[in-house]
Amino acid sequence: MQFDVLTLFPEMFDILDESIIGRAKEKGLINVNLINIRDFSKNKHKKVDDTPYGGGAGMVIQPDVVYDAYKFAIQNTEKSEKTRVIYMSPQGKKLDQQKVEELSKQKKLILLCGHYEGIDQRVLDTIVDEEISIGDYVLTGGEIPAMVLIDSVSRYVDGVLSKDSISEESFAQGILEYPQYTRPEIFDGVKVPEVLLSGHHENINKWRRCEALKNTYLKRPELLENVELSDEDRKFIENIERRR
Ligand code: SAM
Repeated sequence: MQFDVLTLFPEMFDILDESIIGRAKEKGLINVNLINIRDFSKNKHKKVDDTPYGGGAGMVIQPDVVYDAYKFAIQNTEKSEKTRVIYMSPQGKKLDQQKVEELSKQKKLILLCGHYEGIDQRVLDTIVDEEISIGDYVLTGGEIPAMVLIDSVSRYVDGVLSKDSISEESFAQGILEYPQYTRPEIFDGVKVPEVLLSGHHENINKWRRCEALKNTYLKRPELLENVELSDEDRKFIENIERRR
């Protein structure tokens, strides 16, 4: 999968060379192409921003440099190719796991990172297919949000992770994941739950389902409104409520 990132700060993306995403890049499973918007400035000082019309604080990134960077990004892209231009923006739809999975089906994503007060609206209206936010707070730039998107989407690309890691995780089935344990068997006087040592897969799966439901009920109860629950699940949840 290809990510083309339009940014004023390409160096910030060095983080993506680490760990699982770094290995996915090395193996060619994903490709992150960093396009420096400043390279498209025709100004002799490489200026890319100016004061806002109408007055007000801060600087606004100019439309022409962003447009030229975008044209560069799409120059070798066939019209039929699945490409989507996403503006990372606090005004966008909030990123969630469903969106992440949907985006992972695209062949190429062009991620536009704003900075300062943002980007001139005219170029956004011309090139952007959708705006995505990583949460209801304002960051200094779209670089960290773009990295959040690349990391979360890449996990769905074939070969980046084992299939089980994704299907069992929080949100994959609409609920949070069960708690995880590893060696040592006893830590600080606390033993790993006995069932996990039993080797009895059916019991382990049952325990994990119950713990996942409990986690969700206690931490994010609203998620349970949108998942299909069996009679057994419902009984288990009623019991948690009774014991509280
Ligand atoms: N003036 C803008 C507003 O009030 O909506 C905020 C601009 S913000 C300081 C600069 C850039 O950071 C934005 O253009 C956007 O690319 C990025 N950004 C900030 N917060 C974000 C968020 N929660 N999600 C995604 N991108 C964000």
